[in-house]
Amino acid sequence: MRYYVDDQYRFPLETYMTSERFERMKKFAEGKETPCLVIDLNVIKAKYEELRTHLPFAKIFYAVKANPNDEVVALLRDLGSNFDVATRFELDQLLRLGVAPDRMSFGNTIKKEKDIAYFFEKGVRLFVTDSPSDLDKIARAAPGSRVFFRLLTEGLGADWPLSKKFGSHPDLARQLIKMSVRLGVVPYGISFHPGSQQRDVGSWSSALTSVSQLFRWAKEEAHVELKMINMGGGFPANYLEPTDSIAQYADDINRFLETSFRGIGMPEEIIIEPGRSMTGDSGIIVSEIVNIAKKSMHDRYPWVFLDIGKFGGLIETLDEAIKYPIYFPGSGKPQEIIIAGPTCDSMDILYEKWTYNMPSGPQGAKIGDRVYILTTGAYTQSYSSIYFNGFPPLDAYIIK
Ligand SMILES: *Cc1c(COP(=O)(O)O)cnc(C)c1O
Repeated sequence: MRYYVDDQYRFPLETYMTSERFERMKKFAEGKETPCLVIDLNVIKAKYEELRTHLPFAKIFYAVKANPNDEVVALLRDLGSNFDVATRFELDQLLRLGVAPDRMSFGNTIKKEKDIAYFFEKGVRLFVTDSPSDLDKIARAAPGSRVFFRLLTEGLGADWPLSKKFGSHPDLARQLIKMSVRLGVVPYGISFHPGSQQRDVGSWSSALTSVSQLFRWAKEEAHVELKMINMGGGFPANYLEPTDSIAQYADDINRFLETSFRGIGMPEEIIIEPGRSMTGDSGIIVSEIVNIAKKSMHDRYPWVFLDIGKFGGLIETLDEAIKYPIYFPGSGKPQEIIIAGPTCDSMDILYEKWTYNMPSGPQGAKIGDRVYILTTGAYTQSYSSIYFNGFPPLDAYIIK
């Protein structure tokens, strides 16, 4: 028997992928140096189509930062996706891959004026903002462009909240809407991000209520016809803590949209910006057990040191926020373990509060065995550091 186990949830591998897919990815990685990331593009295609099916009216702007691999971007380009771009470096990459600028938005609220000018020069005409000083920059560097206003959300219920730093209170958003008209940009829509890996779909409800109030206010008080809602990312990937299905999220969000926009009329354009849900499930990190050791003769829990840790791409284990399903080889009695990375930094511990188990005993997992960390297609490779302790950045291989 092969399994991963953890304290509260005992999901078989099939919760995450078919065993055929797993075997295929495993076989593909045979002989490859670890750690490495294996991405199956078929999963991303299925995720894209799932969203298209359940939210057919929504325009998808893939958040490039989640997995900026050329082949991932090229696949989504061919499927017809649009792109949420955060920097001019991502912009250059997309242009190099032949994505037209009218399929992009500059979705980062933190941007230099010269970078806004660069986006404008390349043909991008859709910009986010959340502050008067940023709006001034857009008006100067990208005159006549469409601007959307990001609202602050609390990120409660999200495993990776993205709160506080982005967006403005509705009061300030109202000022920005008025200011846009004066400055010669087009006040186009309202955005929010409910927090990444948002497990409480109710977050969309409260955000959409604020959005619809702003739509109403803009029309009645500012004589501005807003046209677009951008509902951000936040859709879940399949980690240890269970979530509703994308179909369920879509159902609920449809209902929230209807309720909050009743009497105002549905906005012309609805955008979503999935990152994690699009690519998370597509990846497996293949790692090797470097050592298994206790700190004293009487310790209950052995430390299991992998050849990947926080600096190699698993930074979202900070505060054990994201709990990856980990698939250990072998069979035998489950042994509670502490999991840590290979670097000479003591913060490089992956899980010690959340209990992971590993098969122990003569048939159990051993030093030198391969361990598979599932749902690692998002926010791993792009986060991996270069050359801390000499470890190279995480390598990725693509399966088509
Ligand atoms: C990171 C980010 C996203 C993607 O969020 P996920 O939770 O990964 O889907 C979408 N929009 C913006 C503006 C972001 O910064």
